[in-house]
Amino acid sequence: MTEFDPDTLSFTPFDAAPARLIIRPQAVVENWQRMQKLSGKARAAAVVKADAYGLGAEEIVPALYDAGCRDFFVAVPDEGMLAREVAPDARIFVLSGVWPGTEAQFFDYDLVPVLASEDQVAFWTNAVSQSGEHPCALMVDTGMNRLGLSVDEAIALANDPTRPASFSPVLLLSHLACGDEPEHPLTRQQLESFQKVAAVYEGIESSLSNSAGITLGADYHFDLTRPGISLYGGSTGNPDFKPGASVVTAEARIVQLRDIKAGEGVSYGATFRPTRDTRLAVVAAGYADGFHRSLSGSGVPLRQAVQQGAMGFVNGHRVPLAGRITMDLTIFDVTDVPDGDIRVGDYIELIGENILLDDVAKAAGTIGYELLTGLGNRYQRIYV
Ligand SMILES: *Cc1c(COP(=O)(O)O)cnc(C)c1O
Repeated sequence: MTEFDPDTLSFTPFDAAPARLIIRPQAVVENWQRMQKLSGKARAAAVVKADAYGLGAEEIVPALYDAGCRDFFVAVPDEGMLAREVAPDARIFVLSGVWPGTEAQFFDYDLVPVLASEDQVAFWTNAVSQSGEHPCALMVDTGMNRLGLSVDEAIALANDPTRPASFSPVLLLSHLACGDEPEHPLTRQQLESFQKVAAVYEGIESSLSNSAGITLGADYHFDLTRPGISLYGGSTGNPDFKPGASVVTAEARIVQLRDIKAGEGVSYGATFRPTRDTRLAVVAAGYADGFHRSLSGSGVPLRQAVQQGAMGFVNGHRVPLAGRITMDLTIFDVTDVPDGDIRVGDYIELIGENILLDDVAKAAGTIGYELLTGLGNRYQRIYV
């Protein structure tokens, strides 16, 4: 049982991956269609920054494009250039704006900078007065205090008679700080401030809502919505709105099964000491694969106050994590899995349809966004 037996283990190259991500672009499309429907009269864009939340923009952008999505948001010009290759005539917005020296990338790849300060506006105005008209977008800060022109600056700019014709914003946007807390007073305030600015930019499209904002109703939709996490199966934070289809399964192979006696210690620090004879499964993924050490079954000082730790799922059984997660390996307690149901070479699901992304995030003390974007590059990625 615990031995490596070449006769009973037949590895295909696919199986040989120590850890793998099975990614379903069609599930992203389904989730996008759901957000499109929920956006009412507004068009739904797709936020594909950070390599489509870690899941692979090269595969996910074309799937969304084929489904009819024509507006994409990325964080930086490099991501925009990559998206351009797979979405030839889509509109691609770059959220981090323009920086002197990067303007050629915007012109050459037809990317739209989201300008976020008066300096950026001045720089861009000058750049387009030399190169000719090129669309831009304007970020307005309505209360998050991250990026954007202030409400007053944005209104002054709209009414500025010296604004050259070559300066042509096509989208006005703002971002909600507390969209996932519908009762938070800031959400309503941000909406009202944004309405005020949108009114002076007549004829220019506007966009306020991320995934959470979309669930707040028609007032929040404007012309274009910007769902991100909801496309990838993550929670919007709104408890009345269930997460969409699961998009990724992260799983790692059992490299060894090991039987230990009651009272022995497990992993670094020997912090897990089972009180019964125990069978352990050692699997080939660790914190270097984005399986946070804070998910450990025991012995993580930072969160000693909370008894948690992640679960795994193997052949129909939920199994608890045993002891500390290490860089490349994680140990599960599989004592309760019947003998015939587990063998070396099987994969244990770390995140997926049975072990939900948001539950794992909660156990790690973080959010689904961070888990997804931190999955690491050691996984074999399989798109199905
Ligand atoms: C990341 C981001 C989004 C997407 O947010 P989700 O919460 O993932 O839906 C939308 N707009 C801006 C400006 C963003 O930075």
